[in-house]
Amino acid sequence: MSNLEVQQLTDKHVMNTYARFPMALVRGEGARVWDADGKGYLDFVAGIAVNSLGHCHPAVAKAVSEQVRSLIHVSNLYHIEPQARLAKALCDHSFADRVFFCNSGAEANEAAIKLARRYGSEQAGGRSEVITALNSFHGRTLATLTATGQEKIRLGYDPLPSGFRYVPFNDLDAAEDAVDERTAAILVEPIQGEGGVVVPDESYIRGLRQLCDDKGLLLIFDEVQVGMGRTGRLFGYEHFGVEPDVMTLAKALGGGLPLGAMLAREEVAKSFPPGSHASTFGGNPVVCSAGLAVMKTILEAGLVEHCEAMGAELRQGLEALAQRFGFIREVRGKGLLLGMEMDRECGPMVQECMNEGLLVVLAGANVLRMVPPLTIEKADVDEALEILGRVLERVQGS
Ligand SMILES: *Cc1c(COP(=O)(O)O)cnc(C)c1O
Repeated sequence: MSNLEVQQLTDKHVMNTYARFPMALVRGEGARVWDADGKGYLDFVAGIAVNSLGHCHPAVAKAVSEQVRSLIHVSNLYHIEPQARLAKALCDHSFADRVFFCNSGAEANEAAIKLARRYGSEQAGGRSEVITALNSFHGRTLATLTATGQEKIRLGYDPLPSGFRYVPFNDLDAAEDAVDERTAAILVEPIQGEGGVVVPDESYIRGLRQLCDDKGLLLIFDEVQVGMGRTGRLFGYEHFGVEPDVMTLAKALGGGLPLGAMLAREEVAKSFPPGSHASTFGGNPVVCSAGLAVMKTILEAGLVEHCEAMGAELRQGLEALAQRFGFIREVRGKGLLLGMEMDRECGPMVQECMNEGLLVVLAGANVLRMVPPLTIEKADVDEALEILGRVLERVQGS
């Protein structure tokens, strides 16, 4: 099928929940993808921070193809070796003692909210409220869109679940003021992704930890976008020198397969006894085999360090562009989660970059976001910067 044929079929039969670009990607290798008409692109979107090993990484392809030949699915009524091994790998390399597996970021956050409520219900007086940040993004289920601090995402979905309260991000006083005897947890992204690539002060994240310790609250980090090496640390919280009580992962965790996880300390995980939560596909053998391959590759190939180095290269280039073009307000982010805030809407630039063979993505209307595979090389960074430079020059000229 051609780009146009796929587009026409989509327009006719797929729910119109995305404003899609007029092309269909059909093949990928490393940091490159090709559309149905054969045009190639350098992919600095990577499924929005999903394909961190690049497209069709041989280790993921091998793990998945071996697993689908021996066992594709069994119920969580039985033990599943790849699931147990992935849980161990995640616990070995994080603050956590136990993992609950699910299929997406929203479900991971849903699980975290449920765990926080159960844990809170066991505290003196019973606690159920979750404080989240304005401009956050936590998913699209009813509970997680309610947790999301953006009105446009909640629009039209009343009645929403109760028990959520929003405070400005990176404002410790506001968080302190919002805590009362009903508060069970504070849920934040250590670095906001969808909200515009916003890196908070170290003192904010450390202050949240202290606040939670003082008041007996759970600190939950949504690391769905920043986790698994993306920011130049295996987990985003490592930048701030504090650990959460609960953390959620998805996006890059399954190497492109749908895999989410909610991790917690033992004392908290105890609030989830048998029967309290479940997922048919969660921790499925195939996706967990992919997850194991991702984890192993990230660690053995030194991809976290590589991400930090390539992130520094890309950042330097973006900052040079910001010097050249006055309409760029700020370059933000960590590792290979980088954003450029402009004084105008960036949508047209995303389209222009695509025409020139570079895929980038928005993070809010005025922020151009780059989340390439962690495996990119210096030549890829240079190529992206060159295309971006050409596009920005035209923006300035227009
Ligand atoms: C993408 C994202 C989610 C939602 O993940 P889904 O897999 O789309 O449900 C939640 N939180 C953050 C921080 C995200 O970036």
